[in-house]
Amino acid sequence: MNVMVAGGAGYIGSHAVKQLIEAGHRVIVVDNLYRGHAEAVDPRAEFHEVDLAATDVLAGLLRDCAIDCAMHFAALAYVGESVTEPLAYYDNNIGGTLSMLKAMHAAGVKRMVFSSTCATYGEPEQTPIVETMRQEPINPYGWSKWCVERILTDCGAANKGFSFVSLRYFNVAGTAADGSLGEDHDPETHLIPVVLLAALGQREKVTVFGTDYPTPDGTCIRDYIHVEDLCAAHIRAMEVLQPGDTRFYNLGIGRGYSVKEVIDSARRVTRRDIRVDYGDRRPGDPAILFANADKIRRELGWSAKYTKIDDIVATAWNWFAKHPRGYGE
Ligand code: UDP
Repeated sequence: MNVMVAGGAGYIGSHAVKQLIEAGHRVIVVDNLYRGHAEAVDPRAEFHEVDLAATDVLAGLLRDCAIDCAMHFAALAYVGESVTEPLAYYDNNIGGTLSMLKAMHAAGVKRMVFSSTCATYGEPEQTPIVETMRQEPINPYGWSKWCVERILTDCGAANKGFSFVSLRYFNVAGTAADGSLGEDHDPETHLIPVVLLAALGQREKVTVFGTDYPTPDGTCIRDYIHVEDLCAAHIRAMEVLQPGDTRFYNLGIGRGYSVKEVIDSARRVTRRDIRVDYGDRRPGDPAILFANADKIRRELGWSAKYTKIDDIVATAWNWFAKHPRGYGE
């Protein structure tokens, strides 16, 4: 298929581009490089530095490249920042998607794979989380993705030829097993990179946000899904989408690891000293988030290959150890 990847210079998008190409698809990357890295774009892909707000440019590209499907990774994705900068989040995440959908409509592109998030569930009623649970986000980031799910649903109802799959990510982690791609955020706030940067001496220490949660070791539990497993699910979902399909799936491994377990894993994998201190809870962090990933296994035959935290951390370490200052050193 001919696939447009919006956000293909970002952490997850760049991994998707690589996998799509290796699966035999033709890839056109669209990214404004606001937070992405040109170096992360696979040279086998066609790259256009374009902002999603440029509806007419997008429509032209979609038409000229005879795009069959749009994969949409281009979003702002820091929960904390979304609380202080809600307009940027609504503008970029909702406005950007609306522009893309309008361009798709104009160009007759009828298939979309959308990056959603478990943040659309907010504080879950129970774990593991199943897709049918109440969705009530607790921050603007979650609401922005929730709104797009709503918009996609309405587009699906209005246009029977339109199909989409919305994938609700849990904690995406790890990097390409062959070491060709990495994770390079600025600022970096995600647990595994922060821990590995501490192992490298790029950070003095890791602060554990809260040790009094109702979990066995008192620290938060999350479902860390390997980025390559996640991308494989996107390709599978894209390939099975039929006209009129509107699908929603959780993407996680179906089990959780605590913050302390992740740090212990990084100590085993890196064999380095990692200094830790124990701080207060970070506002907005639910105690336990992990997926019930049965639906996607049942319907698409997908399940995570990486389920052990050491294996996930090892792929990330492989990249961080070689790129201690990220892309563009
Ligand atoms: N966390 C932490 N110290 C850090 C970064 C994260 O204790 O420096 C915790 C955070 O509170 C959460 C878990 O690690 O419980 C995963 O956080 P991350 O920011 O990686 O992802 P999120 O769950 O917010 O999407």
